[in-house]
Amino acid sequence: MKQLFTIFGNPIAHSKSPLMHNLTFNGLGYDATYIRYKLEDGTQLRNKFFELNIKGANITVPHKELAFEACDELDEFAQKVGAVNTIVNNNGKLYGYNTDAPGFLKAISEFKNIKTVLFLGAGGTAKSTAVILKDAGYEVSILNRSSGRLAYFQDKGFNTYTFENFKNQENNYDLVVNMTSAGLDDESLPCPLEILELVVPQAKACVDVIYGKETPFLKFVKAQNRPTKDGSDMLLYQGIIASEYFCEKKYSFEEIKQHMQKAFML
Ligand code: NDP
Repeated sequence: MKQLFTIFGNPIAHSKSPLMHNLTFNGLGYDATYIRYKLEDGTQLRNKFFELNIKGANITVPHKELAFEACDELDEFAQKVGAVNTIVNNNGKLYGYNTDAPGFLKAISEFKNIKTVLFLGAGGTAKSTAVILKDAGYEVSILNRSSGRLAYFQDKGFNTYTFENFKNQENNYDLVVNMTSAGLDDESLPCPLEILELVVPQAKACVDVIYGKETPFLKFVKAQNRPTKDGSDMLLYQGIIASEYFCEKKYSFEEIKQHMQKAFML
């Protein structure tokens, strides 16, 4: 029987995931289809999974923490970060994973000699990616507009700053990452220009997790001639890793990539 996959989120109309996964299923000859489902009430996620007979799902904003709650089993990393973006239904039990963070880790692997990393932003994506980077041996510092979200990072031993107390710190970071949604639907920078002027010229590279557009952050970085990339590779890689969990038959990363990356060429 054809397997059904979906993305759950709200809003969901913009999501590239159906295209990415359907191109992959078609390319691999895997008998499955991937839809989008606008889920307003995240507490209904588990019910919808069984009601629609879904084999696997991705979960996006704002339900990644409720997706964590909805699972019967969690892999070690998802357990650690409290956020799930991929669920697989195995014989009526929901297994949860986080593929955003490994996707990000792989996306930055092309930048060499990176040790110190500055995150601009402290939201859900920053949480899981900061933990995976720390586990991989990077030194991550977090700079956020407001202090409320910094407690999570302080508890885990990260250096944390707000705009007000940042200026007096040592400003030497190999990689600077826009982890905020600043620039997604507006033309704002993730932090005051004076801070970017301190950290970007010294960075070996700068990354924006927003994809598909040139944000004011990326424009600034390009003007400083620093190596840079947007969030497209992160999106592609989290999708490939999710697909490895979705498919009962095993395909290699490269096999899946060959099909999924076509979604970024259309
Ligand atoms: P959250 O809503 O959890 O967090 C948003 C963060 O951005 C907070 O730290 C918030 O600061 C900060 N912020 C928002 N607007 C501004 C602004 N104008 N100036 C300064 N800081 C701002 O978001 P997520 O972590 O879920 O997502 C963050 C980004 O990551 C989004 O742009 C999303 O599109 C992208 N993303 C990309 C993926 C990919 O595959 N490429 C995957 C997942 C996410 P404060 O605490 O002060 O409110």
